[in-house]
Amino acid sequence: MITNTVKNELSRIVGDENASFSREELVCYSYDATNKLSLPDAVVFPSTPEEISLILKMANSEGFPVIPRGAGTGFSGGSVPVEGGVVVSFERMKKIIEIDTENLIAVVEPGVVTWDLQQEVEKLGLFYPPDPSSLKFSTIGGNIAECAGGPRAVKYGVTKDYVLGLEAVLPTGEIINTGVRTAKGVVGYDLTKLLVGSEGTLAIVTKAVLKLLPLPEATKTMLAAFPKMGDAARAVSAIIRVKVVPATLEIMDRVSIRCVEEYSKAGLPDVEAMLLIEVDGPKEGLERDCRTVEAICKEHGATEFRAAEGKDEVKKLWQARRSISPSLYRIKPNKINEDIVVPRSKIPELVEGLGRISAERGVLIASFGHAGDGNIHVNVMYDKKSVKEAQDAEAAVVDVFKLTLELRGTISGEHGVGIAKQKYLEMELTPAVIATMKSIKAALDPKGILNPGKIFPKAVEAADAEHKVPL
Ligand SMILES: Cc1cc2nc3c(=O)[nH]c(=O)nc-3n(C[C@H](O)[C@H](O)[C@H](O)COP(=O)(O)OP(=O)(O)OC[C@H]3O[C@@H](n4cnc5c(N)ncnc54)[C@H](O)[C@@H]3O)c2cc1C
Repeated sequence: MITNTVKNELSRIVGDENASFSREELVCYSYDATNKLSLPDAVVFPSTPEEISLILKMANSEGFPVIPRGAGTGFSGGSVPVEGGVVVSFERMKKIIEIDTENLIAVVEPGVVTWDLQQEVEKLGLFYPPDPSSLKFSTIGGNIAECAGGPRAVKYGVTKDYVLGLEAVLPTGEIINTGVRTAKGVVGYDLTKLLVGSEGTLAIVTKAVLKLLPLPEATKTMLAAFPKMGDAARAVSAIIRVKVVPATLEIMDRVSIRCVEEYSKAGLPDVEAMLLIEVDGPKEGLERDCRTVEAICKEHGATEFRAAEGKDEVKKLWQARRSISPSLYRIKPNKINEDIVVPRSKIPELVEGLGRISAERGVLIASFGHAGDGNIHVNVMYDKKSVKEAQDAEAAVVDVFKLTLELRGTISGEHGVGIAKQKYLEMELTPAVIATMKSIKAALDPKGILNPGKIFPKAVEAADAEHKVPL
């Protein structure tokens, strides 16, 4: 619990109207998309890095946690205040400060919504590719902290590939600038890369210098339907092998297709698997790429292949794709949502293994995601009211991780560790690697005040019980 003196000081730093201590408001900042809840003691809405610096300095002297929070769409519990403390929300820091069309960069505050930035740069013929499916809500600060990716990662990479420099406040309160505004820069350690993906545990990002690209001249969206999931998976590997690099190459299994179709009525085929493929680039060459993709899909057993007609159909298809995750709750009230990645050539083996795990454990698994970069969202569905279902789901997740690591993959491609994956950390990282990471954390945050209880197994159970909100 923070003291009244701390509360008064917080109000003084950000202004009375920008600090809240009411339970109603605190509940709104107690959870993310994992649906794990834990109440903070306060939420503040600063408008400058200097205000954040003062809050962090006070946190060090008074000993309370500080938790940065974007839109709360995270899938690993990163913004959940598991030990209480002060949530720092960026709702007042959402300015696009600059779009430099000559040097192809944008400078933004952390609270800018990903979609809003994309729309603004596209008006100027520019392109900011990272596109998590949550992009209409997620913030650039949250994207940077999680190193978010999305369908376009297969061709364009993920958030870290677009962050040139940062302004950030260290846990001890110093304001630093990392990186460059230039196309290259190697002066000293790459602190920018260290902070990207650090899940709000090493610094609070207050400004980002982002790389932009020219907007592709044209885009074509295609849909391929397969009666067998294994064939769709083999088609993915074959497309990558022939070196057509699609802008997106998404896969959906039968459970995902049926679930989202019932809800979105996007006209998705009633099949076991579907690929949603987009190619982009100069108009000439696009038709050739489309024909290559079509031929590969048909060679691998696609029974339907069509190009989307007009912007409305494209919009509808993507709307459906982005709605899969929330629509799965129609099947079961709970799910464990994993975002494993395997080398792209191993996708057929992964898909086969997922089918085996589902049958052996008797659990329903819905798989969809960014097959083009090997990143599949594996959703193990269950009802937590049944102890057996919950245990089977948990056991299936461990099987999925073992399989992923056997295939030389990783247990998280974009959602991060947060609180959701910390108990599995040691399956992928050696003790020496974990110790190195912990020493970096200790060097930057000696008192452990910034987003405590995340990444390293210190577990949610250790959280102060008084902050837990009953579900
Ligand atoms: C339906 C749905 C679809 C999704 N699809 C994708 C997807 O395709 N790809 C993908 O990568 N993710 C996806 N996600 C996960 C999530 O949207 C991303 O992780 C996103 O980057 C989180 O952004 P946010 O603003 O909501 O951050 P939050 O959830 O609020 O926070 C996430 C983490 O960032 C930290 N943080 C936030 N702002 C700052 C800051 N300024 N400085 C330092 N740390 C900060 C927080 O402390 C926390 O650890 C999806 C989520 C949902 C609900």
